[in-house]
Amino acid sequence: MADYQHILLAVDFSDQDSYVARKAERLATFYKAKLSIIHVLDNIPMPDTAYGTVIPLDSSSCYELLESEKEKFIQIESRLTLDLAQRWLIWGKPEIEIIRIANEQSVDLIVVGSHGRHGLALLLGSTATGVLHHAPCDVLAVRLQDMD
Ligand code: AMP
Repeated sequence: MADYQHILLAVDFSDQDSYVARKAERLATFYKAKLSIIHVLDNIPMPDTAYGTVIPLDSSSCYELLESEKEKFIQIESRLTLDLAQRWLIWGKPEIEIIRIANEQSVDLIVVGSHGRHGLALLLGSTATGVLHHAPCDVLAVRLQDMD
């Protein structure tokens, strides 16, 4: 079995990110793999334009949100002891962008958090489920305890 060479850590800026990040970091150390990180901005409203997704110039609240997302990204990075190979902060739907980057960057392990879901939430699916179903590589779904 080949060792992992490029691990992609997906973070959603929840309280449990650091737990998931530690697992990814340990695996990267164990396999001497590259570690990259991705956060998909799915909570900032962006208009569709012919030139792709852009920040509306008149919307300072979007800039503020973006700045705060960037700050959270930097905080996660500062808690890691490994140097990151690459980092992505991109707009879109999380599972689609995570899969796209995994394909483009020859990622061989994606690490996500996974909540135990029941009822309607299970039917609607989750980012972890979406990634698992479409990933071109192995996926580690780190089981998270629901806090609410
Ligand atoms: P969820 O199923 O949406 O509760 O998310 C489970 C896991 O998917 C999180 O622990 C992250 O690893 C990943 N994830 C969810 N949303 C995002 C996002 N916006 N960007 C990157 N990863 C995400």
